[in-house]
Amino acid sequence: MKDTSLELVLVSTPIGYLGSGRGGGVELTMCSLIKGLLSLGHKITLLAPQGSFLPSDCAGAEIRHVPGIDQPSWQHQEVSAPVVIPPDGVLLGLWEQALDLGQKSDAVLNFSYDWLPIWLTPRVEADLFHLISMGAVSQVMKTLIGDLCQSNPSRLAFHTYRQASDYELLGEPVVIGNGFDLNHYEFQSQGGGPLGWAGRVAPEKGLEDAVAVAAALGDRLVVWGVVEDPEYAKKIEAVSPPGTIDWRGFLPTDELQNQLRACRALLNTPKWNEAYGNVVVEAMACGVPVVAYDRGGPGELITSGVTGWLVPPDDVKAMTNAVKQIGGIDRRECRNWVEESASHDGFAKRVESWIKEGIKTNESSSG
Ligand code: UDP
Repeated sequence: MKDTSLELVLVSTPIGYLGSGRGGGVELTMCSLIKGLLSLGHKITLLAPQGSFLPSDCAGAEIRHVPGIDQPSWQHQEVSAPVVIPPDGVLLGLWEQALDLGQKSDAVLNFSYDWLPIWLTPRVEADLFHLISMGAVSQVMKTLIGDLCQSNPSRLAFHTYRQASDYELLGEPVVIGNGFDLNHYEFQSQGGGPLGWAGRVAPEKGLEDAVAVAAALGDRLVVWGVVEDPEYAKKIEAVSPPGTIDWRGFLPTDELQNQLRACRALLNTPKWNEAYGNVVVEAMACGVPVVAYDRGGPGELITSGVTGWLVPPDDVKAMTNAVKQIGGIDRRECRNWVEESASHDGFAKRVESWIKEGIKTNESSSG
């Protein structure tokens, strides 16, 4: 490292192009981080699938497009599934370039939840760092991440403690939360509107429970997000009272927050150990309290009784009762929490110190 600014290579998810929504929360996380790292004076090269684009406030980053087909997503496979890398997969192209560029850069920061980049870490010259974006949904990934933690613990960071607790780690994990550009979310002090739900429409997100809550209250549920599993969406629609679900599709952040901020509450119903829960924080940034299952990341993001309510996982009745009490939540508290705990510049500083520390650790261990 020559001076305090870093030359960083960021590697995007190999699922969907950046801007498609198919990569889930990782997409927004990367954009917020790029903006924050640029304003700290770092040089960023982003490797991302063909078609990817960055918002205008990330224009200072160079983006290099990589062709190839998507990687199968781990969360939709059996926990014991083997590693599959399609020969014409974008993952291989991304990592071919990352290793090459990485040798001339200070560090490579990986956002994909995949076997290859983690396996490469102790075996290559480039300094690879991984922001792990999911809980342990696969045995092979769980073992590999546990192994890397034994050999190179400084190379791993997690979004929340609950996510990290899914893995067998040595010592305290590096937990760096997440970050959101607050300028993109307008605070709304009054929220007499409907109930909201946002996320990929896929079984691990538990949309059916949120619909059941809205149905029990005779209410409407506005749903935003990519329909990743159309069969699953159809099944939910078929068993809910007509008119309960108001499908809005996947919207860019500006439109999403414009609609979301009128909600009187966001429901968050994960069936898996959610690593973080971007939509929880985005709702709170607009002043919308969140009622969530006390499972995974959201359990660390919501202060029950202050910024929303945490209820026992899978307990639809408890969630329904909590929604009835939502009027007691001061919406300003929600926004305050995000300003204090999840701003994009604070996140970029945490990432910066993790990487600088990791580079130092590596420099001293290699003499
Ligand atoms: N999202 C969006 N537009 C929508 C619905 C969702 O941009 O209409 C984004 C949202 O901003 C969030 C992501 O989708 O960043 C979902 O991320 P989350 O962490 O909640 O779940 P994941 O998909 O990563 O499991």
